[in-house]
Amino acid sequence: MYSGMADVAALTGDKAYIHAIDTIWHDVVDHKLYLTGGIGAEGGHEGFGPDYSLPNMSAYNETCASIGNIYWNYRLFLLHGDSKYYDVLEQVLYNGMISGVSAKGDRFFYPNPLESMGQHARSEWFGCACCPSNVCRFIPSVPGYMYATGKDRIYVNLYIQSNADINLGKNKVKLAQHTAYPWNGKIEFDVDPAKAATFDVAVRVPAWLSDAPLPGGLYNYATPEKKAYTISVNGKKADVKVENGYAIIKRSWKKGDKISVDFPMDVRYVKADDKVKADLNKAALQRGPIVYCSNGLTITISKCVTCY
Ligand SMILES: [Zn+2]
Repeated sequence: MYSGMADVAALTGDKAYIHAIDTIWHDVVDHKLYLTGGIGAEGGHEGFGPDYSLPNMSAYNETCASIGNIYWNYRLFLLHGDSKYYDVLEQVLYNGMISGVSAKGDRFFYPNPLESMGQHARSEWFGCACCPSNVCRFIPSVPGYMYATGKDRIYVNLYIQSNADINLGKNKVKLAQHTAYPWNGKIEFDVDPAKAATFDVAVRVPAWLSDAPLPGGLYNYATPEKKAYTISVNGKKADVKVENGYAIIKRSWKKGDKISVDFPMDVRYVKADDKVKADLNKAALQRGPIVYCSNGLTITISKCVTCY
C-alpha cells in the first residue's frame, strides 16, 4: 500500500500526499526498523510495535515485509532521487530479505529474528506460503533495481557483476560492472555509449561508508571508517560533485571509458540508540552492506565499544 501511495504521490505531485508518505517513512526508519532492514516487530498482528520496541528473539520481520520494504524504498527513490532510500533497500536486500531463503534455495524463513537459542529453522514450505513464492518472484527482478535514469543521467544504485543496456534519451549506453561486491568494495565499469555524449553517471555512495549504516539515526557506527573512498575515470581521480548521496561524474563519455570505484570495507561495530532497550549493552558487526551473524561465538571486546 505504501508503494502505491508513493507512486500516486509521484504521479500527481500532490504535496499533502507526498508529505504523508514521507512522514510514514520517517516513522518507520527513525523508530521501527531493525538493523537488518527488517520491519514488523510483532508476530501477533504481523505489524509494527511501538517506537523503539525492537526485540531480537521474538522479532517477526516477515520475509514478505522485507520485500515490501524494498518495493516501497524503490518507489520513494524514484519520487525523490535521494540515495537514502537505496541505503535502506540495500541493507534489506543483503540482510533481512535474503535471510528468508537458504543458500541452496530450498528452505525458507517466514519470520527473520535477530537472535535464537536454536529454536528457529528454515522450513521447506508453509501452509500459508506467501514468503517462498514472494522470494521466487522477487529474486529475478533484482536486476531491475540496479540502475535508473533521469535527464542526461544514469543512477548506479546497486553493485552487482553484470552487463546492462540502458536507454538514455535517444542514446543507448552499455554498462558493464566488474566486481566481487559485497565481498569487497572494488567496482569497475566499462562505459560504452552508442554515440559519444555528455551525461552524468551518478554513483551511489553507500551509507555504510559513513557514520551510520542506515538513515534515521537508530543505528550508528561505534568505530570510524579509517579510509576514504576513491573514484577514478581512465586511471585519473574523477572530478565529482556529491549530491543527495551520489558522486556525480559529468563528462563527455565515449566507448572505452572506464570508471574505477574503491569503497573501503572495514569490519565496524554498530550501536543502536539507547532508546532501543533490547539492544542495550549489545553491538552488531557490519562489513560493507552485510550485518554478520555469530553462531555460539563469544566475542571478547577488550574495550567498551562506546569508548572507541
Ligand atoms: Zn510472507
